[in-house]
Amino acid sequence: MAREFDVVVVGGGLVGGAIAYGLARLGRRTALLDEGDIAYRAARGNFGLVWVQGKGLGLAPYGNWTQQAARLAPQLARLLRDETGIDVALEQPGGFHVCLSEAEMDNRVTSLTRLLEQPGFERYAVEVLDRAALAARLPGIGPGVVGATYCPLDGHLNPLRLLRALHAAFVRRGGEYLPLHKAQRIERRNGRFVVAAGAGEIGAAQVVLTAGLGNAVLGPPLGLRALVRPQRGQVIVLERVRRFLAYPMATIRQTDEGTVLIGDSQDESGFNESLSTSISATQAERALRIFPGLRDVRVNRTWAALRVLSPDGFPIYEQSASHPGAFVVTCHSGVTLAGAHALELAPRIAAGELGPDMQPFSSERLNVQEAA
Ligand SMILES: Cc1cc2nc3c(=O)[nH]c(=O)nc-3n(C[C@H](O)[C@H](O)[C@H](O)COP(=O)(O)OP(=O)(O)OC[C@H]3O[C@@H](n4cnc5c(N)ncnc54)[C@H](O)[C@@H]3O)c2cc1C
Repeated sequence: MAREFDVVVVGGGLVGGAIAYGLARLGRRTALLDEGDIAYRAARGNFGLVWVQGKGLGLAPYGNWTQQAARLAPQLARLLRDETGIDVALEQPGGFHVCLSEAEMDNRVTSLTRLLEQPGFERYAVEVLDRAALAARLPGIGPGVVGATYCPLDGHLNPLRLLRALHAAFVRRGGEYLPLHKAQRIERRNGRFVVAAGAGEIGAAQVVLTAGLGNAVLGPPLGLRALVRPQRGQVIVLERVRRFLAYPMATIRQTDEGTVLIGDSQDESGFNESLSTSISATQAERALRIFPGLRDVRVNRTWAALRVLSPDGFPIYEQSASHPGAFVVTCHSGVTLAGAHALELAPRIAAGELGPDMQPFSSERLNVQEAA
């Protein structure tokens, strides 16, 4: 006989962890199914930015949603610390996107201007800093740095601690985390969803697909099109050094423990998770042009991981029309959006209705693009 829950969340990465925690907070009896160690897990390979700047060009509601998520990040961090004792090391001092040529600077300013001027976009302040102004805020920048853009909403945190805290808080709220439970098949029987996973079956009134790249396979039988593809990203971790960087940057940040992270590249290599040394070399070379002082700091480790990207790069949040009660939640910025997923999206799922303001995140927008 199937074990019964109110909701079964399939995929225990940052997206599934945040949604499952949000549901458990509301008293929903929730199971969180996760795969084993061989799974693709963006949640364990990311760069840890809570990043607003530049997001939403082409879909203004996504820019607004990202801002809302960044505003909710402190509340989520506080809740997780109070419930689990885990400090996710959230800092939101604002962040810099550094440019290494006049052409980069011009492109950056043009694209941010287009972003902020979109109809329906909630404008935020962006500062454009020339080299001298930037040097006053980021001491130690190299002679090749031309300038930067700064957004006060940006920040960063420790993403592994965030993942651990979400799982711990979920369990503390009565949720059941079930590792080594890969969902093999999901079907509807007698008005409920039954998930075949592990050695048995799990039943629930609602099912939420948060399986990252796995959603592409799990979604269609439930009438959910999760058109996601992998995109490789690489990160370099340097040894710990004295605190020299008071702000996160789009490609360099210093953690609360002092290590310096250089990230994160973007390239299309399918499901290839191996490390490209030529990409690492480019990342390192750019980082040294920004901070020449890093030349003497040793590399501790490097890794590659796969992002979960929809065709237009924006999230897909949708309830199935053919299988009401089945939802898909997928995005490429699960660190940034964790606050909104736990505290705003999960209550809507619990209520059985995402609401009209979530309509722009439905996969229907992709039909329009395909037809165009
Ligand atoms: C290099 C890199 C840098 C990044 N930097 C940032 C950043 O700075 N800021 C930011 O906001 N985001 C960043 N991201 C994105 C972020 O990591 C992801 O959005 C986030 O991890 C959420 O992913 P997810 O939970 O959807 O997927 P995943 O983390 O991939 O989790 C999916 C989970 O589903 C499980 N699963 C899959 N199939 C099944 C199945 N059939 N049954 C049960 N479980 C299943 C897997 O085991 C896995 O645990 C980065 C990503 C990468 C790769």
